Amino acid sequence: MVNIIEELVEYSKLAWDRGLTESTGGNMSVRIDKNTIYITPHSSIKHFLTPKDIIKITLDDKVIEGVGKPSSERKMHFLIYKERPDVNCVFHAHPTYATAFAVSGKKIPFNMLPEAILLLKKISYLPYRMAGTQEFADVFKPELKAGKDVFILQNHGVTVIGENIKKTYEKLETLEFVAKVFVEANKLGDVHEIPQKEVYEYVEKISEDK
Ligand SMILES: [Zn+2]
Repeated sequence: MVNIIEELVEYSKLAWDRGLTESTGGNMSVRIDKNTIYITPHSSIKHFLTPKDIIKITLDDKVIEGVGKPSSERKMHFLIYKERPDVNCVFHAHPTYATAFAVSGKKIPFNMLPEAILLLKKISYLPYRMAGTQEFADVFKPELKAGKDVFILQNHGVTVIGENIKKTYEKLETLEFVAKVFVEANKLGDVHEIPQKEVYEYVEKISEDK
């Protein structure tokens, strides 16, 4: 069985190595029981993370194991896990293209690529709040209740959530891919969208295949 701390470290590194977050930006966590998570440390360059850097902490902010300081954006992680029992992983990152959308205020088109159809039907655009504050965490609340699991954070970055580490990472990478393709396609001069009817049919087919 894969050690969950190692898995968190590997996928956090992968996110950094793939350019999905930059410098010390971003933080990742995984839930191990109802009230306990493992989270990346404050101000860490994810490429250099090792399992001993990971901090075990409760959702009421008590460190159980670990020597470093937990991520300063942990209040957002706590709130997400409390609001959504179906969620076991949270990735917060600053990928260039998706963050460009967060800065421009523009929305990523829903029906441009099949990957986007599935991913973006659960996307949410959140207003700017200062990172690390309770207000920053609280803006997630209504959208979490509405079942959203991809969040574009105005003038900041993105947060994606999921049932496990791999699926959450996939959402992050797909989100950035879709944002990048849209920006690059625009440079070529034209962006074609998949007709709405086809979008519905595709979503239906995927749901049946599951
Ligand atoms: Zn951030």
